[in-house]
Amino acid sequence: MMRRIYEDFAYSDEGRSDCYWDSTVTARRWPVLQGTHQADVAIIGAGFTGLNAAIELAAGGASVIVLDAEWPGWGASGRNGGFCCMGGAKASDAAIARRYGQGALDDWDTAQVQAINLVARRVSSLSLDVEQHSDGEIVLAHSRHAMKRLQRSGETVDRAGLAAMGMGGPQFHGGLHTRVGFGLNPRRYLEGLARHAASIGVNIYGHSPMTQLKRGRQRWHAVTPDGWVEADQVLIATNGYTSDDLPDWMAARYLPALSSVIVTRPLTPDEQQAQGWTSDLMAYDTRTLLHYFRLMPNGRFLFGMRGGVTCTARAEAVTRRRLRTHFEQMFPAWRHVEATHTWSGLVCLMPALVPFAGEVPDMPGVHAAMGWHGNGVAMGSYAGASIAGRIAGTNAHSLPEFTGRTPTRFPLGQYRRSLLRLAYLGYSLTDAL
Ligand SMILES: Cc1cc2nc3c(=O)[nH]c(=O)nc-3n(C[C@H](O)[C@H](O)[C@H](O)COP(=O)(O)OP(=O)(O)OC[C@H]3O[C@@H](n4cnc5c(N)ncnc54)[C@H](O)[C@@H]3O)c2cc1C
Repeated sequence: MMRRIYEDFAYSDEGRSDCYWDSTVTARRWPVLQGTHQADVAIIGAGFTGLNAAIELAAGGASVIVLDAEWPGWGASGRNGGFCCMGGAKASDAAIARRYGQGALDDWDTAQVQAINLVARRVSSLSLDVEQHSDGEIVLAHSRHAMKRLQRSGETVDRAGLAAMGMGGPQFHGGLHTRVGFGLNPRRYLEGLARHAASIGVNIYGHSPMTQLKRGRQRWHAVTPDGWVEADQVLIATNGYTSDDLPDWMAARYLPALSSVIVTRPLTPDEQQAQGWTSDLMAYDTRTLLHYFRLMPNGRFLFGMRGGVTCTARAEAVTRRRLRTHFEQMFPAWRHVEATHTWSGLVCLMPALVPFAGEVPDMPGVHAAMGWHGNGVAMGSYAGASIAGRIAGTNAHSLPEFTGRTPTRFPLGQYRRSLLRLAYLGYSLTDAL
């Protein structure tokens, strides 16, 4: 079974059918798993997390099989905003320091930078054409209040400074530029990882959902509709697309949330000037329910924000209208510019608002790595490599100890996404300040 908490639409092709990135790659076809196969490690989920783990393990000599319910990149990894940036936790730095200690916060900061460096290394060592751009990222204050808060955390640029940097908009009161991170075409990065993994011996299967994980006499059996994999170790890397019963331990320990993106047709230089937005810096705003956006090297503009709590065709249409309205309010000179692509997908939140990368209790050899809180390009990649390091015994790519602590359960069980409705309402009130 795959017991998941959103409507079927969220797990169908419909939400992603209009994804811009699909038009930028020639996707490879992968076989369906049939019959019995043996591996040292079975990895469930072919996104950044699963594929980075597979590459580390195979490079160390392990035999690895990766299963995806659809195909590599079908999940969030093939349809995100392409911000390779700091992040991965939603808990504030202060909360992390208070709960786990200042040393843990320092380790977490180091890991976030190493995560970005890992992606940069993969891109360059595999010579991937990922349309990389942006010298770090900028956070833009959406109100005067927010600007005051930003000023307390570092050296800011005021409204005039922003305009001079090519970042004009009626809602931007100033910003804080951090020179860490870059923008990339996530699907090309993903496709590059998958092809490289296959070239070093990883066997990747598509349309092969694990429907059951059971203990055989000596090894784990990851069962699919047409076969199964017998492996000593299993890594569950399914993030927002995880099932509550794979294994049962998962139930209510994670909370998927929708995020949506539009990509416009290429903007002419005159159109960019008219809005006063010519910068290639990737940007997000200070709202808790934040918007993220970047002008891509080909002149298209990418604009994203959180989605709704319901995932049906009708709810998706409402979300898309809201996305468009916010875009037009923030970039009024582009009201006439059509979005050629719109899509959505699931990110994953955790009860303590920090990721989990560790072993599943009472299931020796079964690991999970998930919960990047909407920032998994870098951290998913890194945590996948980190878990692989632990499985292989090299302990490369270390993460702070707190990421290995067993997540608790959200209240409300399979109805837990109602928690988002309340949270979103609260946040939209505070974001209005
Ligand atoms: C619209 C959107 C925009 C985003 N923008 C950004 C951004 O700009 N920057 C950033 O850092 N992050 C962003 N994210 C988040 C980021 O994309 C994710 O955190 C990251 O891709 C997660 O990678 P993953 O490998 O852990 O999981 P995923 O990429 O979601 O992969 C999980 C895979 O598991 C497979 N699967 C599920 N169940 C099974 C099963 N039972 N058997 C086999 N396979 C299974 C699925 O088919 C899927 O392919 C965004 C996400 C979305 C949806």
